[in-house]
Amino acid sequence: MPSAGRQVASRGSARGSLLGIEGVSTAEIAKLLQLARKMNPQRPRPLLRGKRVLLLFYEASTRTRVSFEIAAKALGATTTLVLSSGSSIEKGESLLDTAYTLRAVGADLMVVRHPNAGAPHLMAAHVDIPVINAGDGMHEHPTQALLDAYTILRHKRKLEGLQVAIIGDIYHSRVARSAIHLLSKFGAKVVLCGPQELLPELATTLAPGLRITRSCEDAVRGADVVMVLRVQRERLAGLKVNLQDYISRYQMTMTRLRLAKNDALLMHPGPIIRGLELTWDVADCPQSAIVEEVRNGVPVRMAVLARALGKAK
Ligand code: ASP
Repeated sequence: MPSAGRQVASRGSARGSLLGIEGVSTAEIAKLLQLARKMNPQRPRPLLRGKRVLLLFYEASTRTRVSFEIAAKALGATTTLVLSSGSSIEKGESLLDTAYTLRAVGADLMVVRHPNAGAPHLMAAHVDIPVINAGDGMHEHPTQALLDAYTILRHKRKLEGLQVAIIGDIYHSRVARSAIHLLSKFGAKVVLCGPQELLPELATTLAPGLRITRSCEDAVRGADVVMVLRVQRERLAGLKVNLQDYISRYQMTMTRLRLAKNDALLMHPGPIIRGLELTWDVADCPQSAIVEEVRNGVPVRMAVLARALGKAK
């Protein structure tokens, strides 16, 4: 019996994969953002007609999953969703055997979300089709960083020199990690803010020039962009975080937000927990780009999919 692994044509080829922002050049990011500006989900383009996009989600998702699906369909591809519950994953099938199976049924591209860092990288090293990381554990969430950059650039002329405050559970956040890499590459001044348990000093080693502050007021003062993150209770495990204390020190309130520039953008990758990391009025304030971020996820993911399959025109 041949092993499942031998059914794969050429190991490690996975050209077109997007696994993280860390290893992507500014030129490549700029190209993706430029392509995203040409994508209009209301005006579908059949660039990926006949292509099969597999959405493999081992973790909960609303925005990312749905926008990848809508993006793929807007480009004429067909999509198939595989969730860990209700599939052979529940029976103990390994990640790679699932990948080989999906390739064998004709997948042209896989979008993967997984609780373990590096899972999409492992798949990309073993299948001969592009793999797009839709969030791997506490590691990276590259398409979120791209859509956030796209959103910021719709309001600000450039990323260089912008003062960006990232506040909250940075330790568990793949969104923060990808955003830090992207913003730093483009010369934004990134300030990280949160309590010790959710923001270890080590975080400054992620990119050059990062600053850490434990004071929310200090982080927000004069900021062009305020990015608020959810406390990832599902990943807290042994960590002890006093939520009442967190709310009093780090919750984004209108009083705190007013310390930022008048035209500052309020961002959050979602899902938002009103009353915890931000107040109701902050979530709905005129500066809030939260809904816009979700909307921008579609053209950005259209660009990522088209580019991955070599159809970027
Ligand atoms: N939706 C984002 C993620 O999947 C952020 C979050 O869950 O808080 O990482």
